[in-house]
Order: sequence, then structure tokens, then C-alpha cells
Amino acid sequence: CGIVGCILKSNKAAPVLLDCVQRLEYRGYDSVGIATYSSSGIQIRKDRGKIDEVSEELHLEELPGEMGIGHVRWATHGLPTQENAHPHTDCEGKIAVVHNGIIENYKELKDQLIREGHQFVSQTDTEVIPHLIEKYHKEGLGMEDAMNKAISKLHGSYAFAVVSVDEPNKIMGVRKESPLILGLGNGEYFLASDAPAILQHTRRIIYLADHETFIIDADGITVKDVDGQVIEKKIETIKWTP
Ligand code: GLU
Repeated sequence: CGIVGCILKSNKAAPVLLDCVQRLEYRGYDSVGIATYSSSGIQIRKDRGKIDEVSEELHLEELPGEMGIGHVRWATHGLPTQENAHPHTDCEGKIAVVHNGIIENYKELKDQLIREGHQFVSQTDTEVIPHLIEKYHKEGLGMEDAMNKAISKLHGSYAFAVVSVDEPNKIMGVRKESPLILGLGNGEYFLASDAPAILQHTRRIIYLADHETFIIDADGITVKDVDGQVIEKKIETIKWTP
């Protein structure tokens, strides 16, 4: 239903992500989850239920790290359960993905990946995304190329964001027929399905178009087309009074 992400200058990604997903609550949801990256790798906490209740039970805000991704889920494939809540990972927990939308051909992709030895733990359409990226990364592609190759196999609507252990310190993702915006703070960077999620952190927004991919790291935001060519994007300043 909604995705968020951030790279900060302080070790506060988890409370910021929690705040951002709370601001997407109005879109409706059944589950919530957060993944952060720190020196101990990717850590995930997620469950079905109200954000306040899940947070009280799992202490989402305690996850360590300067960067991470978050999700509020409106289940389309697979019941609202802990296993089906996002973020989802590859086999080794080294690639974490949050996704808004529907992967229409997930069944064929999942069957093929299972034949190749991938193990799935959820009933979601989303879980094919980290496994496809894992497959192409293990075949020798860097994370960005692995993501682009995965995208070329996906049918449907999606905005998703990825963090990985092998290329940490960056968040990458794409938009196709699901909303996604990027936010530029003061040396800090954000992504979200909708502006209200991040307006308390920045008013400087880049609107992604369909089929555009992004890479966010501590130095800034890069937007590319499907062929990997950099696109110069306009930064818009939102004037917004609540
Ligand atoms: N199709 C995905 C799922 O059911 C994502 C749903 C959403 O956009 O929240 O998990």
C-alpha cells in the first residue's frame, strides 16, 4: 500500500521510518514492517496489525542504522500474516525489498525460481523480486544491473525499494504505475509513495515517472531510464500547509 525509505546522517533511520509509515496510515493497511542496514547487516521487524500495536510489541524504532526501508501493506496476494508482511528478502537475507503494487506474473516467476532452488517463505507476489535480484547478482551482475534485469522480467504495477548487504549504503528502486517520490533533505534523502510521509523532513521533491529507476546514497539521488541513462530531474518545492 505504501513504501518509504531514508538515508540519514544519524543513527535514527528506524524512528524516522516509523514516523513516515505512520503518516501513510490514511491509505489503509493491514501490516507494517521496517528493514534497516547497519554494520550487523540487514535487520527486519514486521507483523500484521496496527502500527502502534506492532511497534509496541516489536519495538520497530530500536533497529540500528542510518538507512532503511519501510512498508504498510494492503494485502493483494497472501493473507495479512507476519510472513507475508514486507520487507521480503532473498534466500540469505542479504537483499530486502518493500513493494507497492501487484506482480501479475509472479506465479510463473516463482515456479521457475523454486525449480532453480530458491526457497520462499511467503505467499506474496512481492517475494519474487528479492529472489530475482539475488539470482542475477549471483550470476555476476552488480546490484543495479541485477535489479534492472529483474525489472525486465516483471509484469504488473510496482514501486519498490531495495537495500542490500553486498552494496550497502545505497537504496535503489523503480516506479511503474504505482506512485513514488524522492525527497532531498540537508544531506539526507528520502523516498515515499506519497508526499505527506516525508514533508516533515523536506519540501524538496523529485517526482519519478513510470519506468524510471533511482539510486540514493549519501552523496545524493540519481535517476535513470530503463537503459541506464541518467535523467536530469527537476526538484520541486512543495508549499504545503496542513
Ligand atoms: N502485492 C503486494 C502484497 O500483497 C503489495 C501490496 C501493497 O501494495 O501493499 O504483499
